[in-house]
Amino acid sequence: MNKLIGLLIVLTLINVSIFAEDPVDETINFLPEENKAEYFFDRGLGYYNLNQYSKALTFLNQALEIYTQSNDKPKMTRCYNNIGNIYNKLNIFNKAMEYHLQSLELGETLNDNEGIVSSLNNIGNVLRNIEKYDEALDYYQRALDLSYEINDNKSLAITLNNIGNIYLSKENYKNALSFYNRSLILKKELKDNFGIATSYNNIGISYQGLGSTAKALENHSISLDMMKKLKDGDGIASAYFHIGIIYYEKNENKKASFNLEKALVYAQNYDNKQIMIPCYKILGEIYSKQRDYFKAFIAMKLYAQIKDDMVSVQTQKAVAELQIRHETEKKEKEIELLKTKASIIDYQSKESEMFMIILVVVFIAVTVMGFFFYFQFRQKANSNKAIEEQNLMLTQAYSKMEELAKTDMLTGLSNRRDMYQKIKHETDRFERNENSFVILMADIDNFKKINDTYGHDAGDHVLTSISSLMLSFMRKQDIVGRWGGEEFLLLLPETNLEGGKKIAEKLKSRIKNETIQFKGHDLKVTITIGLSLYDRICDVNESIKEADKAMYFGKIRNKNCVVTANDI
Ligand code: GH3
Ligand code: MG
Ligand code: MG
Repeated sequence: MNKLIGLLIVLTLINVSIFAEDPVDETINFLPEENKAEYFFDRGLGYYNLNQYSKALTFLNQALEIYTQSNDKPKMTRCYNNIGNIYNKLNIFNKAMEYHLQSLELGETLNDNEGIVSSLNNIGNVLRNIEKYDEALDYYQRALDLSYEINDNKSLAITLNNIGNIYLSKENYKNALSFYNRSLILKKELKDNFGIATSYNNIGISYQGLGSTAKALENHSISLDMMKKLKDGDGIASAYFHIGIIYYEKNENKKASFNLEKALVYAQNYDNKQIMIPCYKILGEIYSKQRDYFKAFIAMKLYAQIKDDMVSVQTQKAVAELQIRHETEKKEKEIELLKTKASIIDYQSKESEMFMIILVVVFIAVTVMGFFFYFQFRQKANSNKAIEEQNLMLTQAYSKMEELAKTDMLTGLSNRRDMYQKIKHETDRFERNENSFVILMADIDNFKKINDTYGHDAGDHVLTSISSLMLSFMRKQDIVGRWGGEEFLLLLPETNLEGGKKIAEKLKSRIKNETIQFKGHDLKVTITIGLSLYDRICDVNESIKEADKAMYFGKIRNKNCVVTANDI
């Protein structure tokens, strides 16, 4: 318990020292810009190696500003790389990615292969930290290919180690071991002690993963000794941590907590969250098993806090976004690809243009057809209407013709043809109800004399006047027709000979008393009437002939008289 509080106090003191003001040498103001930038850069790197990241960032940014102004691209690349690494150490991954991508871009424009390999590896490291292993592997693979190409063993050793890290994270210990061993050989050739110590540590982890505890402990112990000699806090923390884990897995909790607490001291000193997080977690579990619940509670609370801070969802998103942006920019540079794409788009737009034209043509065709059928329909409707009108006119004309055919033009009475039909109609009626009818044949006396004396018009006038008189005088059911020149045939339905004779007498008298005015002349006419009865004894034509004979007989008897067929 006291130990833990002590650790927290140490941690606070370290943090205070990190953010404390650092007196800047005043002579700097008298240096030329170029030298100023180098001064800032060196001091930044110094603080970086001391794991004083805040100060390191201040100096490196000042250096970057001057290098950017003078457009010193190689130096800018170095600044970007180191600033990116600091942000990665501080777990500010989006910033880390931003600077490493800038560095990569500059490296590409400068054709600085070593710089590119370094950037690719650094980007891989950021991606590994946010657990995007496959993406990280892509970058490492590019770094590996380029390292072989430029035959740079130092880069190769770093890259092989990084690939080993990925396989380790993916729990593919066999592959991890293989890459770490390849890296170790190169590092030994390069006499890179820190690299060698790191490799031993990594090999130890791989053996542990493969279940070879003894080999794991052996390698970690070598690494620990070397890191102590190198006074590398992170390396020492890592070695202690892994040894602690091995003991923890062997259920040797005392040895485990001893090593993990040591690891935690170094990790806190260097703010190494990657070690701190699992240390707190496992220590929490061990304390809990040892029933030291207060220590267990604090350890677990710290574990949760740091872990929450470390990888926020937003950070991951921002990193992914930057990566996408970078990839897009790269693609845009591939002009050939764009050209192909453009031609495809052009083809597609032409295709859609064609489609639009077809659509418009079809639309016009449909509209035209629509109008065509509409007008056809209207025309048909109109012509139907016209035919109807024509038919009506024809019907009217026909009925008029029929009427005319039945009618005498001068007098408007039924003509001889129509009278035959009406006689036929009456004979049919007689067949049904045996009602006899009377036929009158009336002829104007001395008519020729009127024509001769007053002219043909006067004759016509007399004809029409007598016709009107007859129509007005006769009963409603009686039928009057013009039989010939000045001859009239009258049909008296449902009438016997006696009744007929009386009507004929009255008609004769009525006409005799009538004065017809014509052009200042008072014209007087008489008529002679012959009559017969139709009672089926003989043919109707015989009856007509009888009436005619009777009328003719009346002419002989001084005219202006009524004669029945029986009288003859
Ligand atoms: P009757 O007393 O014997 O019947 O002698 P009538 O003169 O009346 O008879 P007739 O047969 O000798 O002469 C008939 C005349 O009627 C002859 C003809 O020119 C005339 N007539 C026939 N139809 C028409 C007509 O539509 N208009 C006129 N103005 N005269 C007509
Ligand atoms: Mg006459
Ligand atoms: Mg006559």
